[in-house]
Amino acid sequence: MSEPLHAGAHLRVIPGRPSLSSPLLQVDGVSLEYRTDARVVRATHRVSFNVHGGDRFVLLGPSGCGKSTLLKAVAGFVPPAEGEIRLEGRRVAAPGPDRIVVFQEFDQLPPWQTVKQNVMFPLRRSRGMGAAEAAEVALHFLNKVGLAQFADAYPHTLSGGMKQRVAIARALAMRPKVLLMDEPFAALDALTRRRMQEELLELWHDAAFTLLFVTHSIEEALVVGNRILLLSPHPGRVRAELNSHQFSLASQGSADFQAAAQRIHQMLFDQPAETASARGRAHA
Ligand code: ADP
Ligand code: MG
Repeated sequence: MSEPLHAGAHLRVIPGRPSLSSPLLQVDGVSLEYRTDARVVRATHRVSFNVHGGDRFVLLGPSGCGKSTLLKAVAGFVPPAEGEIRLEGRRVAAPGPDRIVVFQEFDQLPPWQTVKQNVMFPLRRSRGMGAAEAAEVALHFLNKVGLAQFADAYPHTLSGGMKQRVAIARALAMRPKVLLMDEPFAALDALTRRRMQEELLELWHDAAFTLLFVTHSIEEALVVGNRILLLSPHPGRVRAELNSHQFSLASQGSADFQAAAQRIHQMLFDQPAETASARGRAHA
């Protein structure tokens, strides 16, 4: 018997191939835990969010709310205790070159390799490039972060900001499906931090990548992100998800920006009215 023909048949979604509108990254009811012999620490509780291609998606919350753990789970280092993470519809089960992390620490570059060798290394190892091609790609991305003239320098001769630029070049050179950044500018002085935020946004306009960015700074979240997920204190739960594409470094001093920052602060740190009044009654 032949299959019946109907008008929508050619629009059928092919299994395993997500439709154009489906999110690039899906975090679906994800609880994350650390287990020791003595106890279980729950880092996040049933967190869900979707990241679309080209997003600058920010996870924002106080220290200890599970931001780094969430990023590590997306990277494939921490398996969910509950829920699922999918990249292009496929469950994330292990680390892979399609998800590269840039960390806060300045020591993420092996010190015995030059800047260029640092950028080339994962290209050769994970992308299987030959030396000449890897060198060309490395120089292209070092040029994008303004460090081509430091290609043969060793990491210990660079400032913190320059080391972070190398880490960003190394990550972008891998052409990940999602670039994961865990408070990459938190250890920098205020002026360098601002400059790096500006450069990151320029790179995003130029190189068109998808970013998942972790910070505990409300201002940084508003500047860097187009979407912001607010997480409650430990264990992290979703408080709210907001649009923030209207803000940039230029709007930082404006009344709108200040009002948004104030509102986020309240959402992050104020107790819900019911809980506060219930507690008041309990003490009365
Ligand atoms: P954030 O990045 O938002 O500051 P983390 O993801 O680092 O938060 O940590 C979330 C929670 O998990 C914290 O309470 C922290 O103490 C706990 N935690 C983090 N790493 C470990 C670990 N290796 N073992 C046990 N608990 C951990
Ligand atoms: Mg952290």
